[in-house]
Amino acid sequence: MKNFSKSIDAYKEAVDLMPGGVNSPVRAFKSVGMSPIFMEEGKGATITDIDGNEYIDYVLSWGPLILGHADERVTTKLKEVVDKGTSFGAPTEMENKLAALVKERVPSIEMVRMVNSGTEATMSAIRLARGYTGRDIIVKFVGSYHGHGDSLLIKAGSGVATLGLPDSPGVPASTASNTITVPYNDYESVQLAFEQYGDQIAAVITEPVCGNMGVVPPRNNFLQNLRELTTKHGALLIFDEVMTGFRVGYNCAQGYYDVIPDLTCLGKVIGGGLPVGAFGGKREIMEQIAPQGSIYQAGTLSGNPLAMTAGYETLKAMDEAAYEELGKLADRLEAGFQEASEQHGIPLQINRVGSMVGVFFTAEEVINFETAQTSDLDRFAAYYRGMIEEGIFLPPSQFEGLFLSTAHTMEHIEKTIQAVNRVFANLTK
Ligand code: PMP
Repeated sequence: MKNFSKSIDAYKEAVDLMPGGVNSPVRAFKSVGMSPIFMEEGKGATITDIDGNEYIDYVLSWGPLILGHADERVTTKLKEVVDKGTSFGAPTEMENKLAALVKERVPSIEMVRMVNSGTEATMSAIRLARGYTGRDIIVKFVGSYHGHGDSLLIKAGSGVATLGLPDSPGVPASTASNTITVPYNDYESVQLAFEQYGDQIAAVITEPVCGNMGVVPPRNNFLQNLRELTTKHGALLIFDEVMTGFRVGYNCAQGYYDVIPDLTCLGKVIGGGLPVGAFGGKREIMEQIAPQGSIYQAGTLSGNPLAMTAGYETLKAMDEAAYEELGKLADRLEAGFQEASEQHGIPLQINRVGSMVGVFFTAEEVINFETAQTSDLDRFAAYYRGMIEEGIFLPPSQFEGLFLSTAHTMEHIEKTIQAVNRVFANLTK
């Protein structure tokens, strides 16, 4: 058994200092019945905790580290930049460089605004969509997460396509009533919402591949249909590519599925491990943002040189060949899970797009939040704890996908598959 005594002591100290002992809820490991593991350092595909336990890392800071930890192409530049000052509150050329690269790589983006997180990107895109269309209602999907902005922290009202309810105390009911929540991959429900509220809907916001209910890809031309419907009703289509952006492919999910939204939100990989988000889209819409237009959005540390450098060096390193290599690793991992499932008689659904992999402990096909919830959560928790003992660090929730980096090798993948087999053998004992 691994020794976690230092993590346990650090957690005891932390709970007195921070709510739940953490700065973001998923880090508390609650759903897998463990005490949080405190990390010390990462290099490439591995991460080491403060007790000295080493893991192959499939969390990768929840997605940003597509080159793995402390990639030298990124850290060397960061060291150069840090000595020149970390933030100026005035424009720098590095902002132009990253913006130009983003514009080149993201089909929908003609202009972009940098922010500091995915939450800021989606909040700002929503304000822009409302300001631009002069409408208030937003349509989102059940089980999609778009950060913790009030308009997006909403659960479904009773019945299909009804106005939403607050998903957290503190979100005003009046705010929630401007968000309609419908099941993902259920185009009929979206149509129903538009039949009822079409001329009041500012935007539909969706993850092009859901990553916050586990991994759930779009099906039956769902994205194409959303594109057509929003255009028909004069509403904007917003792709929240905070997770999928530069993760599922060279041109993000919109390139992969060939559906071009009006606005795109980015985060995670675009910052290469530093706090960056961005939103962008059609020039005509983006020009409404202050100071060019009247829709307000700002940020003291937005576009700071360190964050821009980490993002730029990361995106530059991710050429088309790098995505191909990631795809090969992910193929093998997917096949390994499939083989282990069959060999041990453990029903699994494996959903994968690019290097986002979702493994659900259920026999049902997972196409939305409802079907994701058919997963056996106790079995997931037991599997999770087994994998930690095996030295494999996975996202501590059934409803999160795992990620690969270019620092992972086939050897890491084979080791992981062997660990899965040992853990599955124990699950059925
Ligand atoms: N949108 C999506 C799709 C996300 O996955 C996340 C974070 N997991 C966010 C928005 C919020 O990003 P952040 O945590 O950087 O605020």
